[in-house]
Amino acid sequence: MTSKDATIDRRTLMTRVLACGLTAPFMPGSIKAETKDGTHGSELIQNPLLWAVAWSSTAAEFAALCHQAFNFAKFRVDQAVQQHDGSKRPLAVIADIDNTIVHAASYWGYLINEGIDFFNDDIWDEWIPKNLITLVPGAEEFLRHCEKQSVEVFYVTNRDQGPNTYNYALKQLQYLEIPFADREHLTVFQDSSDKTPAREAISATHELTLLLGDNLNDFKRDYYIDDIDERFALVERDKEDLGSRFIILPNATDGHWVRAIFGESEPAATAENRQILLEAATRQAWDGK
Ligand SMILES: [Mg+2]
Repeated sequence: MTSKDATIDRRTLMTRVLACGLTAPFMPGSIKAETKDGTHGSELIQNPLLWAVAWSSTAAEFAALCHQAFNFAKFRVDQAVQQHDGSKRPLAVIADIDNTIVHAASYWGYLINEGIDFFNDDIWDEWIPKNLITLVPGAEEFLRHCEKQSVEVFYVTNRDQGPNTYNYALKQLQYLEIPFADREHLTVFQDSSDKTPAREAISATHELTLLLGDNLNDFKRDYYIDDIDERFALVERDKEDLGSRFIILPNATDGHWVRAIFGESEPAATAENRQILLEAATRQAWDGK
């Protein structure tokens, strides 16, 4: 066996070991796996969501990135105010809601406690009206700054919790006691993730200064594609707009980057999808040489 063969064998073995670990029985509801001493069982600590959720729940760096984004947003708003001719249309900002204004850490932590390792739409729909939310760090200061500067904020989200979808979203904004939490400033797309119509409608009456989101699809529909390399190429094309016209917030658990991996934004929790996730995570892996 050559050293190359040995490397391949080691990698194949590791892939199988990892795949077996990842395909351990993540049956929703079946493994609230606590041992007698109250510690979590092995199934639970194999959940691939752990790192992403631990990061956004504990890392001060997560909060720092959010503040950095909103500080930049404030700077851009102030620039726009200084340059704005009062006779023109009023200034406006569009903000996405989930993972841009609303922090969903309690939802993701719950999934992990239930032994679930993929986004779960039924639990999400159950979680939304409970308002178990917090504000993304820096969001409130930014929104109040916009209000003070007479820059209107329009919230645009895509959610679907049935006939109460709009009211749930509005109540969340009001629960957070943030500015512009009213019907005039909230658009909810229930059947589509395409926010282009809202951007066009708001641009017709306002001078749109800035877009904020955790998903590049919040910026341009072009990013709603399921090709990882093409999305990277689009970012290179649009790089001058980042931090300028578009402010992006960090989100390591969900978004259209997930769609680029799986071909759908909310992939099912299946063994096949866990293998696809493994392949995505090792896409740039060192070959051991
Ligand atoms: Mg979002």
